[in-house]
Amino acid sequence: MLDIQEQYQQLKQEIDSAVLRVLASGQYVLGENVSLLEQEIATYCDAKTAVGVASGTDALALILMALGIGKGDEVITTPFTFVATAEVVSHLGAEPVFVDIDPATFNIDPEQVEAAITPRTVAILPVHLYGQPADMNALRRIAERHHLALIEDAAQALGARFDGKPVGGLGLAGAFSFYPTKNLGGAGDGGMIVTNDLSLAEKIRLLRNHGQREGYEYHLLGWNSRLDEIQAAILRVKLKYLDEWNRARRAHAHSYNNLLQDLPLQVPLTDNRCYHVFHLYTLKLSNRGDLQNYLVQHGIESRIYYPRPLHLQVAYSHLGYREGDLPHSERASREVLSIPVHPSLTGRQIAYVAATIRKFFEEKAH
Ligand SMILES: *Cc1c(COP(=O)(O)O)cnc(C)c1O
Repeated sequence: MLDIQEQYQQLKQEIDSAVLRVLASGQYVLGENVSLLEQEIATYCDAKTAVGVASGTDALALILMALGIGKGDEVITTPFTFVATAEVVSHLGAEPVFVDIDPATFNIDPEQVEAAITPRTVAILPVHLYGQPADMNALRRIAERHHLALIEDAAQALGARFDGKPVGGLGLAGAFSFYPTKNLGGAGDGGMIVTNDLSLAEKIRLLRNHGQREGYEYHLLGWNSRLDEIQAAILRVKLKYLDEWNRARRAHAHSYNNLLQDLPLQVPLTDNRCYHVFHLYTLKLSNRGDLQNYLVQHGIESRIYYPRPLHLQVAYSHLGYREGDLPHSERASREVLSIPVHPSLTGRQIAYVAATIRKFFEEKAH
């Protein structure tokens, strides 16, 4: 699914020297590299500012915390995502309200969002799943009409664009993750908040470091969610290659689409307003379990993102959802299968994966 060592080997000299410079500097947390990475990511996302934090999960949590979201509040989001999206809402005492996805894109369905708004709703939290932006135009209209905060979970989508504009700064604030498997991944955990709201950013900057301004003066009840210099230095090296890597992912996806589209499965459907960065290349088919076994037998890894939607997780049983409540998400959970799409795949590997999938269907027919 991924070749992290290969990516490191390609950039070894640059990364090693950046890391060694940090080690020699003695400045290990929230230093020059973090500040520069923040500026570079803000510029990359066409946003006014960015704040580095300890993880993508923290990026989401700190946005919500800075907005004062908590007990009695509802946040509308998708159940077809990584657990962190909803977990942070719950940890602040607010309640995630799950609405169903558009089965074509796997992203939150704006029409269902509007129907789920109550007097307690304070925010909409779409996820740009697999690297494809959610319908930000429709979501922004809804957020404006109902005075809701629009927060992007852009953890899988750094470099993606909607209507030509980079994700992250499309709503009030956006969260990115630099977990090693993400399109821009560090050598450990890391995250970033991007926003055009400077006072919100200022508050998040305080919150990530115990609410501390100078000395031991605490202006807010904060937290330790600082980004370290080694991560920032590595990410700054890799950021220069991100566009090239995303282009490679897109080219791989394009090849797969051509090689697989006549088979009885659904290849990823791209909304033509989106620049999709293919964090994952995800097929949808009714017999995905058989295909996954077949791929294993032929030396090909594949993964299921995500096998159970959040509204049916034990951790969320207290919310009272039942099977059948959000049918598109439930069906996606039964039918999706992600195959390798990382940048360092070769044309031969892609052809082999596609040919193996074709063979699976041919053998099944006989
Ligand atoms: C990875 C991810 C997160 C969390 O990021 P971490 O850096 O692992 O905390 C949140 N949301 C989505 C959709 C993700 O893929």
